[in-house]
Amino acid sequence: MALIIQKFGGTSVGNPNKIKAVAERVIKKQKEGNQMVVVLSAMSGETNRLTDFALEMQDIPDPREMDVLLSSGEQVTVSLFSMAVKAKGEDAISFLGDQVRINTDSSHTKARIASIDIERIQAEMANGKVVTVAGFQGVAANGDITTLGRGGSDTTAVALAAALHADACEIFTDVEGVYTTDPNICSKARKIDRISYDEMLELASLGAKVLDIRSVTYAKQYNVPIHVRSTFTETEGTWVVEEDKEMEGRIVSGVTYNKNEARITISGVPDQPGIAAKIFTPISDADVLVDMIIQNQDTGNGLTDMTFTVVRSDYQRTMQILRKVAEEIGATGGVHGSENITKISIVGVGMRNHSGIASTMFKVLAREGINISLISTSEIKVSCVVEEKYTELAVRALHDAFELDKANVPEAETL
Ligand code: ASP
Ligand code: MG
Repeated sequence: MALIIQKFGGTSVGNPNKIKAVAERVIKKQKEGNQMVVVLSAMSGETNRLTDFALEMQDIPDPREMDVLLSSGEQVTVSLFSMAVKAKGEDAISFLGDQVRINTDSSHTKARIASIDIERIQAEMANGKVVTVAGFQGVAANGDITTLGRGGSDTTAVALAAALHADACEIFTDVEGVYTTDPNICSKARKIDRISYDEMLELASLGAKVLDIRSVTYAKQYNVPIHVRSTFTETEGTWVVEEDKEMEGRIVSGVTYNKNEARITISGVPDQPGIAAKIFTPISDADVLVDMIIQNQDTGNGLTDMTFTVVRSDYQRTMQILRKVAEEIGATGGVHGSENITKISIVGVGMRNHSGIASTMFKVLAREGINISLISTSEIKVSCVVEEKYTELAVRALHDAFELDKANVPEAETL
């Protein structure tokens, strides 16, 4: 007998009829001889609706009260789901986070799971019940309800799978899985059958829409295989699993883009020890996250340029801080930047063993007349910042060049 965790997102339980359909699906799986633990999100839109109410009460809602409020969304779906299962003649029981208990730290609205008591779940499963657990919530040591942060139900499911040593953790959503790129901008995007945890983490901007990224970190740590699939079809989705030989054979697994960054340059900076610290300390003090940084070589006049990227919503704030810094350190070229950029990345564990992947990417972009303004690389990723208007063109050209529409592995030489 297998133990299966199934998590259904908000669109899968968005109204009573959908909840009934999910109950049917779960019962069918149980009747095939499996033990079932089901994790549910709130109905789609519900967490936003509650958040809006909170904002009508307080400009910055009290985090403890926010958790009491937001955890109610999942309380509704798990109880209704259990009723739906019972109505179909099977037995079920729902648990809130503090009933399980899912023990967390006390960071309200962004709590982390510390441990899970599995005894009650195991006892009820042994009684043949379908056990349903409210996603996204837990309990602090003092008994206060906590939530794990938006999208946290995926993490609840993976953490339960790890604690219960489940055979699989299935995440049901409204798309069929993880794609080689965004199907909305590239019609040749292909559903990936299997992808490694590390690739999934790097594809965050692509994957985040499908799978909450914190749950992947958790899955990697505890080696929980995740199956991301659609609630509305029976089709196999994407397995997110430990890396293996076959994956290494494919050089690039996905192309992703991130339009959420902005680029800032400070020029004519005196090329002296301590300058980088003077520039980046006030920025980090303001809690601005810096992603890519490049510094040019001094071109002979003792001056240099520094360019970096920040989250787009921090752009104006960072520009203000930096104008002051520029004055203080005597940067002769001033500060300039652009919000109209995209970071395009290619990701693949095969890059570890193949050279020339970055240069292929540069060639492809050059062929399309796309100028690259920043580059960064990691072991399994190459990222280029380009003008935002080239996003679609760059993604399609790279998807073609690396033959991501083909399920078989292209050889590096043929690129
Ligand atoms: N209901 C929560 C949210 O909308 C948690 C989740 O859906 O994973 O963020
Ligand atoms: Mg969700």
